[in-house]
Amino acid sequence: MFVPLARPDITEKEIDAVVEVMKSGILSIGKKIERFEGLMAEYAGLKYGVAVNSGTSALHLIVRAMGIGKGDFVITSPFTFVSSANVAMYENALPVFADIDERTYNITPETLKEALERYQKNGLKTEKLDFPSFKPSTFMAIDIFGHPLEWEGILEVAEEFKIKIIEDSCEALGSEYKNRRTGSFGTAGTFAFYPNKQITTGEGGVIVTDDEKIASLAKSMRNQGRGEAGTWLEHVRLGYNYRMDELSAAVGVEQMLRLDEILGSRDLAAKRYSELFKKIPEIEVPHVEDYVTAMGWFVYVIKLPENSNRSKVMAFLMERGVQSREYFKPLHVQPYYMEKMGYKKGMFPVTEKVADRTLAIPFFNRITAEQQEYVVDTIKEALASVG
Ligand SMILES: *Cc1c(COP(=O)(O)O)cnc(C)c1O
Repeated sequence: MFVPLARPDITEKEIDAVVEVMKSGILSIGKKIERFEGLMAEYAGLKYGVAVNSGTSALHLIVRAMGIGKGDFVITSPFTFVSSANVAMYENALPVFADIDERTYNITPETLKEALERYQKNGLKTEKLDFPSFKPSTFMAIDIFGHPLEWEGILEVAEEFKIKIIEDSCEALGSEYKNRRTGSFGTAGTFAFYPNKQITTGEGGVIVTDDEKIASLAKSMRNQGRGEAGTWLEHVRLGYNYRMDELSAAVGVEQMLRLDEILGSRDLAAKRYSELFKKIPEIEVPHVEDYVTAMGWFVYVIKLPENSNRSKVMAFLMERGVQSREYFKPLHVQPYYMEKMGYKKGMFPVTEKVADRTLAIPFFNRITAEQQEYVVDTIKEALASVG
């Protein structure tokens, strides 16, 4: 048996929609992207949706539209995908980190406040950086693995320290904090559509916001800096080609129309795993806080027992056809970040402790009960023989 880590869920509906676009002759800047943006904005409960060619592009355009640049510090989590912090560096702002909570893997109001106070009081000194004291202007908030932050507390801290929020909700389509959807808590939010996300467009991302200025700047910047008038060869600001094409948008529309079904299958698969893992009590299954009124499962990440040998477990699983991955290697120990900013192991102990033991296992809409049983049984064997 081979069980992949992730797999997109594409039906005849998506295929027909792509064929229809192909036949229409309009492959970019057409009706599908508008429809898709409308669906995404409506879903988040916000006014504007701006679709682009990746989640990273979406975050980058928000950073630019908010005027974040040289001299700005963006506080974020070291336990995330690299884009969350890279987009600050694209604009010569500096990403600085706050540690996470051991159970939700998210920054909490407490860890955020602690880090903000520490940076204001002691600054940041590494082999490459020396800032005696500073105040981050922005919090890049990540609902990691789909689990929402503790938003009420986070918003209070942001208010107290007068920092703006960008919500990187790229992993959290379908999640809710006390009945309010993720993506809607910051000045602007994002969702991403790489093939392993809840829904896919091939490559793609979207900005969702109530802020008219951010939406219109993002629309201009994704389209080579063309102005509102849309004159083709007039460029009123620095722009990029970050447009989402019509084929991708057509897939996105069909996926959004199937969203309830998609989230339902993921929820079922997550529940099945949590049930099956009762057979291996030494494995920690994902923790979901009470304030989470809906969980849009992105990946299913287990925590291996404290002293197990993760690489050996992974190799054992691979031999039996079970893919797995160490989500995430923390950002402050990524080679580029260590070299460029002098960040080091030891700086964010909870993140490091978590990251040493986490393992993402096969998880996708159509994973079968047999596949899940096989995965869990194989993990049990792995722990017994090499773990
Ligand atoms: C997927 C993801 C992104 C965006 O990724 P792209 O591959 O550029 O679409 C951004 N942040 C997080 C946390 C992600 O998981």
